[in-house]
Amino acid sequence: MNGEKKKVLIIGGGLAGLTAAKRLVDRGFQVRVLEKRPIFGGKVSAWKDEEGDWIESGTHCFFGAYSVLYDLMKEIKTYHAVLWKDHQLTYTLEGGNNFTFNTWNLPSPLHLMPAIIKNGYFSFGEMAAFSKALIPLALHKDKYPPTQDHLTFAHWAEQKKFGHRLMDKMFRPMALALKFIPPEEISAKIILDVTETFYRIPDSSCMGFLKGSPQEYLHQPLVEHSRQKGAVFQNHSAVEELLFDGERIRGVQLRNGEILDADYYITALPIHDLCKVLPLSLKRYDQFFGNLDNLEGVPVISVQLWYDREITSIDNVLFSPDGIIPVFANLASTTPDYRSLRGEPFAGKSRFEFCVAPARELMGLSRDEIIARVDQSVRANFPKESKGARILKSTLVKIPHSVYAPLPGMERYRPTQKSPVSNLFIAGGYSRQLYYDSMGGAVMSANLAVDALTRRVSEEGA
Ligand SMILES: Cc1cc2nc3c(=O)[nH]c(=O)nc-3n(C[C@H](O)[C@H](O)[C@H](O)COP(=O)(O)OP(=O)(O)OC[C@H]3O[C@@H](n4cnc5c(N)ncnc54)[C@H](O)[C@@H]3O)c2cc1C
Repeated sequence: MNGEKKKVLIIGGGLAGLTAAKRLVDRGFQVRVLEKRPIFGGKVSAWKDEEGDWIESGTHCFFGAYSVLYDLMKEIKTYHAVLWKDHQLTYTLEGGNNFTFNTWNLPSPLHLMPAIIKNGYFSFGEMAAFSKALIPLALHKDKYPPTQDHLTFAHWAEQKKFGHRLMDKMFRPMALALKFIPPEEISAKIILDVTETFYRIPDSSCMGFLKGSPQEYLHQPLVEHSRQKGAVFQNHSAVEELLFDGERIRGVQLRNGEILDADYYITALPIHDLCKVLPLSLKRYDQFFGNLDNLEGVPVISVQLWYDREITSIDNVLFSPDGIIPVFANLASTTPDYRSLRGEPFAGKSRFEFCVAPARELMGLSRDEIIARVDQSVRANFPKESKGARILKSTLVKIPHSVYAPLPGMERYRPTQKSPVSNLFIAGGYSRQLYYDSMGGAVMSANLAVDALTRRVSEEGA
């Protein structure tokens, strides 16, 4: 960059904020990141508890589709830490049964043949009815899902008349795993988009897990990379308000009263926090900002349970339509660095991490009540293996506002990264990009925000 370095303030140190910081320092900007919490990483953050065990905000699976995330990890030399699992999705059921959607290593759509003809649970008739419902998707590809954003997925499925078993046993846990809301609430567009991607790109549904904590393989390397190039990272620095003078952002006021300024600003906040820091003058300035109040974060709960034995040896993500654990994994299998408990080796046992959803009704329950319900779901799904099993440790994280809720009609309110204010840019999983609110989405939103900012700088310098 010519002349004096332009200053950029990034508000929020989650994956989107940290990615934006890296991209900007690589392009020669002077960067400062403001993060409210003591640790960076936001919804993907992890920390060690007083007994030395890693606690995560939530189970994070790495979908094959997130190529932008893997490009980033290759740049910070941590891609080796993504451990790819067998390309299959296993569902566990009450009573101890399970079924698996396998794939073949063939071009699309042949790779899905085994999932359709030999999953061992749904009949050929059920899968044929489902395939028929997907004809518009096969014909119009990614053009079709946006036309269905006015419907919930349950409503869409009702119109297509495919069986209830498919909805209850396959799509309910899928919707809850993706966005923590059930098919009766989620926009049909989301499930159709994901299905279309899985159908068109064979590797996109393959799942990976990190070798260890996201702090070690994502956030810390990102922070270190940017620090070495001069970026400043401030934790314990909650922003109270963006200062808007009717034309440009002139600074940010922190909760401690301090005011900081820069040439350009990127917000990388969760949607509910962004709405809190936007002044009324900005919400009234343009619908772009006023509309953001329509988006809201979904509650979700993460639970980890250590059992004294191996309840399942499946080294992959697991889905369950039964109970309150739609998606989970035995981290003692999937995540080698986590094979410990209180500093002692913990191989050959179970260290489950569960995403508990829908969580709205559960948020008010006590920790012990929630743990007991999760344990009940485990015992119902694995009655034989869990007989006599003891819980050695349990942890719980409640997130009242997590990813944005993609209800029907919300797509139009998702903001682009370029805003109507010339020096303000929006990053974050909820902002408009291909991957919704996910790790891939956070990275893509940051890439797009930085591209838009760089273009603006050249325009203003011209
Ligand atoms: C339980 C759970 C499981 C998930 N599983 C997966 C998965 O398997 N795969 C996947 O791809 N994605 C998953 N996600 C989604 C993924 O975590 C998010 O989409 C992604 O982390 C969003 O990143 P972000 O940077 O946009 O936002 P965030 O991670 O929310 O970061 C925003 C940051 O802003 C900070 N902040 C807030 N207010 C202020 C303020 N006033 N001033 C300064 N800083 C502030 C926050 O502390 C936070 O660090 C999951 C999410 C959850 C909650």
